[in-house]
Amino acid sequence: MNTLPLGDELQALEGRYSVGVYAKRPLTIVRGAGATLWDDRGRAYIDCAAGQGVANLGHCHPRVVAAIQEQAARLITCQEAFHNDQRARLLSELAALLPAGLERFFLCNSGAEAVEAGLKFARASTGRSGIVAAMRGFHGRTFGALSATWEAHYREPFQPLLPDVRHVPYNNLEALEAAVDHTTAAVVLEVVQGEGGVRPAQGAFLVGAQRLCRERGALLIIDEVQTGCGRTGRLWAIEHHGLEPDILLLGKAIAGGVPMGIAACGPRVQGLQPGHHGSTFGGNPLACAAARATLQVLRDERLAEQAAAKGAWLLEQLQTLPSRRIREVRGLGLMVGIELRERAQPFLAALQERGVIALPAGPTVIRLLPPLVISREQLALVVAALREVLA
Ligand SMILES: *Cc1c(COP(=O)(O)O)cnc(C)c1O
Repeated sequence: MNTLPLGDELQALEGRYSVGVYAKRPLTIVRGAGATLWDDRGRAYIDCAAGQGVANLGHCHPRVVAAIQEQAARLITCQEAFHNDQRARLLSELAALLPAGLERFFLCNSGAEAVEAGLKFARASTGRSGIVAAMRGFHGRTFGALSATWEAHYREPFQPLLPDVRHVPYNNLEALEAAVDHTTAAVVLEVVQGEGGVRPAQGAFLVGAQRLCRERGALLIIDEVQTGCGRTGRLWAIEHHGLEPDILLLGKAIAGGVPMGIAACGPRVQGLQPGHHGSTFGGNPLACAAARATLQVLRDERLAEQAAAKGAWLLEQLQTLPSRRIREVRGLGLMVGIELRERAQPFLAALQERGVIALPAGPTVIRLLPPLVISREQLALVVAALREVLA
């Protein structure tokens, strides 16, 4: 019946016909439900990667699937030159869910695109070109986003990047004070650095950054592409610190797995005119319908509260793991990092053998980003597997 080549052959095909920018694991995933993934041989895995922080609602949440199916049969594409019912409703629903002031939106198709939009909007608003970002920060791999990203391995082959970008140590307000001046268009920060090793910001640093930006005429851009949508135990991670950024960036989980990025803008974003930015697929009805269903599920299933409770439990379990390999366990909600004294890669492979898929965050950190719907039983199995491999 099955005419497709299976397993190894599929992997060989991807290997042969891809450009080679991804380090791939020898695993072919073909199906998902909740926090469980299945490979082509029918083996189940507990998913602590969630498609790199995308599947916050779990894989193939029935309400997202239904919204996509319904909208796909009605209208898939509708460029922003026209109005659309799904888009209009999504925008007003987003405005109601975000802090007051963040009520105008640019819709695009990925996190990096949201960052690009944010950087352009900051230039347009301020007439300045400087960007201040954080060491270990990650904002994506298109040229503007890459310029704000810190990791040299990502940046160096592609120089020259944007000019006027400075990186300061994260959580160092003095360094930020020294870097932000009358040429700074924007300060770009994550509330918890994701790719950079799961490092939560200190509230005083973020609040100080916001004050500095206001005093010195720069915009504060908070990149919540990874921390948004309930991941950290609040719907938006800015809520932990009462932040009111000028631009909030969303992506990853926002449309339940369908590609979407959003730049949410406050009143200090000004000067944008027709033609200044745009996107063919941005705001398409399919992604908008998926995002609306995602926001409804986040609310109805109280997934942020679930992330807070499950994350606190997980952190406590991991902090008491008796392993001399562990340097530190840290995190916020269901965004958890286990920093090792050695390379994380062999332990990720060992976890996979035991049926747990986890992520790295830099060379020595094991990162757990499970779907927020993951059960306590599944989390307990994850802890048991970690206990075993880190023993
Ligand atoms: C993943 C990520 C991005 C980039 O998103 P893409 O959809 O991969 O372009 C940007 N910022 C943060 C914080 C991210 O985690």
